[in-house]
Amino acid sequence: MKLVLKYGGTSISSIKDIKNICENIDSLAKNNSIVVVCSALNGVTDELLEMSKLIQRGNKKQVDHILFGIKRKHKQLGDGLVTSSKLKESFSKTLNQVTMELEELVHGLILLGEVTSRSLDYLISFGERLSIVIISYTLQEYKRKSSILTGKEAGIMTDSNFGESRPLMDTTRIRVSKNINRLLSQKIIPVVGGFAGADQHGNITTFGRGGSDYTATIIASSINADEVWLMSDVDGLMTADPKLVKNSKLLNEVSYTEAIEMAQFGAKQIHPRTFEPLLAKKIPMRIRSSFKNNNKGTLVTASPSAKTKKTVKCVAAIRKIGLIDLSGGILFAAPGSAAKIFTTLAEKNVNVMMVSSNPSESSISIIVKKTDIDVAVNCLEMNLLGKMVKEIETTPDVSIIAVIGSGMKGSVGIASKVFGAAAKKQVNVMMIAQGSSELNLAFVVKDSDCKSIVQSLHDEFQLSKIN
Ligand code: ASP
Ligand code: MG
Repeated sequence: MKLVLKYGGTSISSIKDIKNICENIDSLAKNNSIVVVCSALNGVTDELLEMSKLIQRGNKKQVDHILFGIKRKHKQLGDGLVTSSKLKESFSKTLNQVTMELEELVHGLILLGEVTSRSLDYLISFGERLSIVIISYTLQEYKRKSSILTGKEAGIMTDSNFGESRPLMDTTRIRVSKNINRLLSQKIIPVVGGFAGADQHGNITTFGRGGSDYTATIIASSINADEVWLMSDVDGLMTADPKLVKNSKLLNEVSYTEAIEMAQFGAKQIHPRTFEPLLAKKIPMRIRSSFKNNNKGTLVTASPSAKTKKTVKCVAAIRKIGLIDLSGGILFAAPGSAAKIFTTLAEKNVNVMMVSSNPSESSISIIVKKTDIDVAVNCLEMNLLGKMVKEIETTPDVSIIAVIGSGMKGSVGIASKVFGAAAKKQVNVMMIAQGSSELNLAFVVKDSDCKSIVQSLHDEFQLSKIN
């Protein structure tokens, strides 16, 4: 099989864990062609982002402090893993080259005192630039031939939308398949840095946070891989967050569309575009733990086997969000009123996660992240209060509860079961939304009700017996 294995930062952050994954890759490579895609070591992308803020504030001392920490972390890991005299020198040289480039970039940015969106992408791509050196050399310690490739070197070409770029798939496909297949035919394991590619001018671009998942599926689609595995510290997709529901279960199999919905909610945050490259070629994905080799994780396919087609597969919760109620009486019943609200929020970069409005058009409720509430309320008050909007009311601590499963489509009685369970627990439902896909029924409750309602829905749909 041709396999693309993607490792998240938490799977590659200690000597023990890196040894463990390299042993696993080594044994898989006996019978399969393997491409490895890596995230940055745990926390490094956050540190690089922190550095960019400090650079803009002119805090050179603190920038140097973080830079020193990043260098030390990678050196210490490498020294513990790459121990054979044959590889040591070349490893140090390669790691030094990357850290020197990072240092030069950082000092250039400090001199300028500014970080543009273009230089920010270049800066934050270094987490992966560094991690791949360690993983590739460790594989060589296991006597495997391996090459280090950045996303750009692998052939991933993107548009120039820095921070949220998208691959230009036609060009990418040709380049990636040529570069990667050439290595695979020589039994070399390519270790590719996730998260980043380059635009047509050669500038480094990134896909947005969590983008290494996306890199893995872009590569899988380009080389027609048989499977892509997302390896991290979670066992797979679950029927509910185990922190909320003790008897939650691992899902053996879900569809792409279900996984897309679950990815927005679950413990395993997956980059939202991850599944796109897989759809056309129907390449199966496994979401599994890098720490438990016997655990097969969750299989994500175009059409899961019939026995796994349950109506509801998962009860998920998004916490740390806030509800804003806008009431406007008759004033709202005019074309463009919703547009005004959304434009006002968009101008302040506030993402609206959920909306509902009643047919009398006298009020609109929206859900935003808790950290966005103040900005949102402020700009709505400044621009619309007293004009179109009569009153703005906020409830800061709420949760979205979502019941997910493709079997819900067209099946009668789901809503009554869901809201019946809420009523039994005396939980007040503040807002409801269901998209026309009917894959997801979502509603909003006070955060203090979150745990009990998730547990009771999990019981109601008998999700502990799902498999
Ligand atoms: N290192 C990047 C991030 O932390 C990309 C990734 O981990 O997938 O967002
Ligand atoms: Mg990550």
